[in-house]
Amino acid sequence: MKYSDRQLAEMLTGAGVRPSLHRLAVLSTIANDRCHPSADDLYRRISEQYPGVSRTTVYNSLHALVDAGLVKELKLERGVSHFDFLLQPPHGHFICSHCGRIFDMGLPPELADSADPGFRIDAIDLNFKGICPDCLAKQQ
Ligand SMILES: [Zn+2]
Ligand SMILES: [Zn+2]
Repeated sequence: MKYSDRQLAEMLTGAGVRPSLHRLAVLSTIANDRCHPSADDLYRRISEQYPGVSRTTVYNSLHALVDAGLVKELKLERGVSHFDFLLQPPHGHFICSHCGRIFDMGLPPELADSADPGFRIDAIDLNFKGICPDCLAKQQ
């Protein structure tokens, strides 16, 4: 599902964040592309759209989205954070050890119900590692 700029702006306003141009661009990249960018990836993408934008502006926009609860920081590799859209069903991540891309992996819905009685689950972090279909095809 792709979100329009208008929907993204409503999300920002709803979360108490002023929908500035750069915040919208950062949220759109994370929510619509599902590419799980790092902060550096985001800076590169946003500066293609808005030449001259500073790294600080992009990072500040990103952190405003994290603080507002729209974006979550994934710690998948040592030292590098990747960012994911938070308003989507719980899912795992598959990290390709060849190309480094991060894919969403659907989880069985009953996983969230599998907690022992008395526990409330707020988040599920499940990471898979292996080789993605593209890289597998190239190896053959
Ligand atoms: Zn791959
Ligand atoms: Zn994800």
